[in-house]
Amino acid sequence: MYPELKLFIAGGWRTTRRDMAVVNPATEQELGLLPCADISDLDDALKAAEEGFRIWSAASPRERGDTILRAAALMRERQEEIAQSITLEHGKPIAQARMEVIRGAEFFEWDAGEAMRTYGRVIPAAKGHKFSVHHQPIGVVAAFSPWNFPMSQPARKIAGALASGCSIILKAAEETPAGAIHIARAFEDAGLPAGVLNLVFGDPAEISSHLIKQDAVRLVAFTGSTPVGRHLTTLASENMTSVLMELGGHAPVIVCEDTDVQAAAVSGAIRKMRNAGQVCTSPTRFFVNEAIFEEFVEAFVARAKQTVVGNGMDAGVEMGPLANDRRVPALAALVEDARAKGATVATGGARHGDTGYFFEPTVLVNVPDDADIMQVEPFGPIAVINPVSSLDDAIARANSVPYGLAGYAFTNRADYIDRMIDEVEVGNFSVNTLEASMPETPFGGVKSSGYGREGGSEGLDNYMTIKNVWHSAKIV
Ligand code: NAD
Repeated sequence: MYPELKLFIAGGWRTTRRDMAVVNPATEQELGLLPCADISDLDDALKAAEEGFRIWSAASPRERGDTILRAAALMRERQEEIAQSITLEHGKPIAQARMEVIRGAEFFEWDAGEAMRTYGRVIPAAKGHKFSVHHQPIGVVAAFSPWNFPMSQPARKIAGALASGCSIILKAAEETPAGAIHIARAFEDAGLPAGVLNLVFGDPAEISSHLIKQDAVRLVAFTGSTPVGRHLTTLASENMTSVLMELGGHAPVIVCEDTDVQAAAVSGAIRKMRNAGQVCTSPTRFFVNEAIFEEFVEAFVARAKQTVVGNGMDAGVEMGPLANDRRVPALAALVEDARAKGATVATGGARHGDTGYFFEPTVLVNVPDDADIMQVEPFGPIAVINPVSSLDDAIARANSVPYGLAGYAFTNRADYIDRMIDEVEVGNFSVNTLEASMPETPFGGVKSSGYGREGGSEGLDNYMTIKNVWHSAKIV
């Protein structure tokens, strides 16, 4: 059920002298040994990616799109096998893993279509002269994907690169390698030329510092925490290499007095616990108008307490473990800090059970502004619910963090919605839903949440460079 773990370089699978254990976070049992790339493996991947770029950038957009669509179809066919691997290595409920496989395939399908729409333009010029603008693939991409969505996170990066005509070296997360391995297998079976997609694992700092300094690498694409994103951006700046950074979020949810309080609270509690809160767009800071505050808290806490926590393979489980052991003390510390500064722990707040990296669904109420969790993204199943006196108050609090990825509101008042669209500082704003993005919509952040967009008609922009051409009919 769990695949053999290998690196994929120059169209071949390989093991290495060093390896590390991959562990099921629900049982703490070892799933397999993951080979770690050394410098010579990375150099092989670079050489292969340079050759892959030469071949792939010359292919027609339709040929690229067709190959991507064949691979996506294989991922859909293999949905159950991939989903089971994801649940084993990540812990999420199997139903959510199945949805993730489909979402990953949709990212590929969307970008396959966009490959044929990377239009340039013609700029009016004097007779005998032509100005034209051409979008061309940027070059070899070094990409780094995290462990919270083992398949759809690598899918975003691979889809953007391959649709644009770039080759890619992806370092997927060592905690959850199988999702990316299944993608590489699908592309191998779909006939992608060798070297266009290369997959490595190992020491993240060693791999990023070696790859990013190479002249051949023209884009660094990263999803993960803001501190790591800042570090990689600094490395990239040495070589004036472009970056695409999808970083942390600390999403506000503004709950206005006119909303259906019960429906908003239940939606909030369910969405907060999805993927055990390990989502960069997870709704975290709920700012609730004081007129409905008590009712909202009561309904939210009641639904959070009903969350069925357990092994994602078991029927009926709504929330699995955290993906790795280091997150358990990190979350416990945020709760203790908030409690010490005067917050009420309405439910949860501690490790759940003795085996596996489980954390209780947690709701903190009336959290003071100086608590760490008001600034630090919990990236776990913790919701903060605080009262606000007005929309002004709510917007000011929503914007009071360095992050600006996703933001949400529950209201039907057009005047409130209009103001929030203008004033809430995020890249993705949703009203009456806690969904933030679809393959066809551009996704990304403002402020410390990063640069660039993935998906939408903007999704290939970062993977392409713009060339302006001036063609004069005669030598002038
Ligand atoms: P971390 O900051 O150590 O690592 C985050 C990711 O970056 C991991 O995938 C890791 O392998 C990678 N990474 C770390 N150092 C790197 C380096 N020098 N070069 C290349 N890659 C490197 O944090 P963590 O404990 O794994 O996760 C905790 C935090 O990460 C969360 O609080 C959250 O903010 C963030 N995170 C964000 C996302 C997202 O979707 N935006 C996903 C996962 C984690």
